[in-house]
Amino acid sequence: MSEFDFVQVNREYPNEAYAPDGELWWETKIHGCRGAFPRMASWLRWNVEVGERFTTRQLRKVLNVKNEHAQRRQRELRDHGWRYLSSKEEPSLGEDCILEEIGWWPGDGPRPKTTAISAKVRRQVLERDGGRCVICGRAAGEQYDDGSIVSLAAGHIRANSHGGKISLDNLRTECRLCNESVRADTGSAADPKAVLEQVKSLKKKEREELRYWIQAGQRTRTALDRAYDAYRLGGPRVQEEVVRYLAEMESRSWV
Ligand SMILES: [Zn+2]
Repeated sequence: MSEFDFVQVNREYPNEAYAPDGELWWETKIHGCRGAFPRMASWLRWNVEVGERFTTRQLRKVLNVKNEHAQRRQRELRDHGWRYLSSKEEPSLGEDCILEEIGWWPGDGPRPKTTAISAKVRRQVLERDGGRCVICGRAAGEQYDDGSIVSLAAGHIRANSHGGKISLDNLRTECRLCNESVRADTGSAADPKAVLEQVKSLKKKEREELRYWIQAGQRTRTALDRAYDAYRLGGPRVQEEVVRYLAEMESRSWV
C-alpha cells in the first residue's frame, strides 16, 4: 500500500473549488459534471499539486468506481491536456503517478471537443519514432542533466493554432524540455561564444552530422541508435537473444 493512499486530503479549499450549487466540483450534481471523468479532473485539480503524487487506487476510491474503470478514465486525462509521469515512464514509481501539468477540468467551462491527441494516436506516434524524442534523442525514463526524468509527448510539427492537423504526419515524439523550447520558440539565451566552443570541439565527422541534423530539423538516428531502439522495444525474448549474440561476438574477438 502506498503512503499516498488516502482519500480525504485535509485541505482548505478556495472558493473556486466549489461549483455554483455550493458543492465541491467533484461532488456537485450539476449536469455535465457528474461523470467519472469530470469528477476525477476536478478532484485532481484541487487535491494534487503539480509535482505531487497520486495513485489510481486513490482516484478509484474518490470516484467509487472499479479499478479498470478508473484506469480508463485516467488515460483520458492525457487527451485533455493533463500530463503525469507513471510507472510506464519510470518503473520505480510503482503505483504512484507524479502530476506534471494540470489540464481541463469542469471549472474551465464546457469540455472541449477533444482537440487533444488521443491516447491511441499518441501511442502510434511514439512507436513510429522508436520511443525517443526526435529532437534530442532521449527516451522516456532517461534523465536530463539536472537529474529530472524524461517524459515524452506527441507534439505538433505545425501548431494547432496555425491550422496544423492531428494526423500522424503532423505529429512527432518530443520530450518535455524540447516541447517547451519549441513552444517558447526562443530557447534559453545561451552565450554564443560558449555554444561555438562546443561546436568547435567536435570531430569533423560529428560536425557533418550536426549540420545534417540542423538541416533535417531533427536529430536523425544512426544505424546504431536504431539497433538500440529495436533492442529496447523488442521485449524480453529478443533482448535475451541480442545480449547472448553480443557476448558471443565479444568472446570470439578474444580468441
Ligand atoms: Zn528532447
